[in-house]
Amino acid sequence: MFFSVLYWLKERLRDAWLWPLNLVRDFPARSGRLAHTLFTGSKAFVQFPLFFWRAVRDGIFKRQMRWAVQQVGVWLHLLLVQLFDLVGGPEICQFVMHFGMYTTPLTAAEQTAVKPIFGTHNLRYQDVRIAQGGILHFIFRHNGGLAFATWYTIHLPVKRGEGRETAVSSRQNLPLLVHELTHVFQYHHVGTRYLGEAIYYLVTTNRKCYQYGGISGLRVCHQQGKQYRHFNREQQAQIIQDYFTQSRQSQDTSAYEPYVNQLRQREL
Ligand SMILES: [Zn+2]
Repeated sequence: MFFSVLYWLKERLRDAWLWPLNLVRDFPARSGRLAHTLFTGSKAFVQFPLFFWRAVRDGIFKRQMRWAVQQVGVWLHLLLVQLFDLVGGPEICQFVMHFGMYTTPLTAAEQTAVKPIFGTHNLRYQDVRIAQGGILHFIFRHNGGLAFATWYTIHLPVKRGEGRETAVSSRQNLPLLVHELTHVFQYHHVGTRYLGEAIYYLVTTNRKCYQYGGISGLRVCHQQGKQYRHFNREQQAQIIQDYFTQSRQSQDTSAYEPYVNQLRQREL
């Protein structure tokens, strides 16, 4: 009991320390992404009168304006999440959320299993936390037992559920861990936008956003020049999960290789 309280306190102190630490070490990446968004926004703003005039001239005003409004929505989402990242929002949220759960780091065996997929230096494996129990019992009861990743935390249901990602839902389900780690990887390299994008597709497709066409679909996509970054966030995670499952079963994974390479190149 004493040691588990001590461990819990150590984990919370670690969460608190990550806020100033990441504010500094992630500042270049976070401010760079924000600067890029501000730049594209100002460019679009300057070009808008010309865009407006062309739309009127070509008689496609309504269609073009609808598209422009969508783009403004996408841009505003980026601006908001990138400001959130810049002030360390992910660390603050995780610090608060972890108070209601039990968190543990990846085991040495888990790290050994996943590092060849993502690359040794592409992720802060020691910072990943698996969260189970506590308020998560309540959340999983209401989301159909769907495992999910928020920033550097992977939330795994303890019991079997009926959700898409919980056919065998436990810490021993390495393919599921790989799926969720892909979301952590997305966060690490593109920021919190991955979360909004994943939720958008989950909601708009009624959770049918995982299908990418299997091996034959991947081959066709590759022939047509489709890149890993063109798949939605859930498809990206599913591709890596399936690659992992099939490579462990010594099956032919050649259809997956180009996309796994793009993941390792951080082309998200
Ligand atoms: Zn997912």
